[in-house]
Amino acid sequence: MSRLSIAIVGAGIGGLTAALALARQGHEITLVERRTGFSEVGAGLQLSPNASRILIGLGLGPALRRVATEPQRVLVRSLRSGKSIGQVALGAFMRQLFEAPYWVVHRADLQTILLDAVRSEPSIRLVMGRTVEAVEDGPEEAALTWISAGGARETFRADLILGADGIRSRVRQALGDGTPPTYRGYIAWRATFDRNSAPAELAGDETGLWLGPHGHVVHYPIAGGRLINLVAIEKSPTPVEGWAAPGHRDELLARYGSAAPALRRLLAQPQEWLRWSLFDHPAERFAKGRIALLGDAAHPVLPFLAQGAALAIEDAATLACLLRENKPDVPQTLLTYEKQRLDRARRVQDEARKNGRIYHAGSLIAFGRDRVMRHLGPEGMTKRYEWLYGFRIPE
Ligand SMILES: Cc1cc2nc3c(=O)[nH]c(=O)nc-3n(C[C@H](O)[C@H](O)[C@H](O)COP(=O)(O)OP(=O)(O)OC[C@H]3O[C@@H](n4cnc5c(N)ncnc54)[C@H](O)[C@@H]3O)c2cc1C
Repeated sequence: MSRLSIAIVGAGIGGLTAALALARQGHEITLVERRTGFSEVGAGLQLSPNASRILIGLGLGPALRRVATEPQRVLVRSLRSGKSIGQVALGAFMRQLFEAPYWVVHRADLQTILLDAVRSEPSIRLVMGRTVEAVEDGPEEAALTWISAGGARETFRADLILGADGIRSRVRQALGDGTPPTYRGYIAWRATFDRNSAPAELAGDETGLWLGPHGHVVHYPIAGGRLINLVAIEKSPTPVEGWAAPGHRDELLARYGSAAPALRRLLAQPQEWLRWSLFDHPAERFAKGRIALLGDAAHPVLPFLAQGAALAIEDAATLACLLRENKPDVPQTLLTYEKQRLDRARRVQDEARKNGRIYHAGSLIAFGRDRVMRHLGPEGMTKRYEWLYGFRIPE
């Protein structure tokens, strides 16, 4: 096995997973992150079996089990009337069908577990507080230039540079794509609060999904069941800046004025809300020469299928598997990586957009949607996603 020097830009969920998976294949990793520390930003993340299987394979199962919850089902209700529309089976049914659990976790918990694992790998060097400004490809190696907060510039050369630098990726520009992501007309409000203060009927081990024509709400327990994670999606013609713009509870409640009383009681619980706008960008290229993309940098996805983190984790594991080979031809391997990932990323992006339309359907389409859900039943609803949750890395 020849040891490659790999530089990864961005230590989000994708970059951390890639660093770990590639180091386990014997490569030398330099992981560059512009933040100076890891804060507790973010809320709940759903780790469906396609992602949990990979993380368990990386040895993170015991740590994740301590912080994850495993909802038994998704209860789908009408946002206005509160009436049940249908269910999706999760829990034991999902675990048996796909041989891996459907977990929900706090984003900060997953990040901490990955970071601890990364820090204990001697072949990973974590360089914090450096912003990558430029990336350049070359026949023998690729180079990146980073700048420190004090303005010092440094150039680093590697056999391969992996852009895991999120939706506004700088590395994507080196692949010839400088177009910004597209705002999709939705703002997500998110909050976490103590599970003990949730209305009793909504505090169970379940994921709640409330559908209405102007938005939808998702909630589930996280942090080992101590907190409830709450996300409310609203349509909005203009975006807000960043991942964590403050939102006012009264404004949200006014927007959900016609929601069912139990849901309004739930939405009234958190004192503090944060908002972020939903963007995506078509997946087009994953690789060129010795440079490749991963996660949101390659294929930002709307959260309506809960696959943003899962796809990044799949990318990381796929690439690590392809680079397992003895003396890999890097540009050729990266093209194979693109070939293996492009169609799947596009399909997930399309399905997520489609889910948005179905979730927010007007009365006629909603009538058909509700009938289909009832007809399929909880297990049938789960089985529809065999292509997604049953993912295995191609041999
Ligand atoms: C702060 C934050 C909060 C989030 N909260 C949620 C949430 O609550 N729920 C949810 O479902 N999803 C959330 N997401 C999105 C979700 O984490 C991602 O969709 C998914 O994990 C894929 O991640 P990624 O690693 O590809 O990209 P990201 O998670 O965006 O990570 C990219 C990393 O690259 C770093 N970076 C960017 N540019 C540079 C550069 N030029 N040089 C060096 N480093 C750079 C960023 O600081 C970041 O750490 C959040 C993302 C962020 C960044």
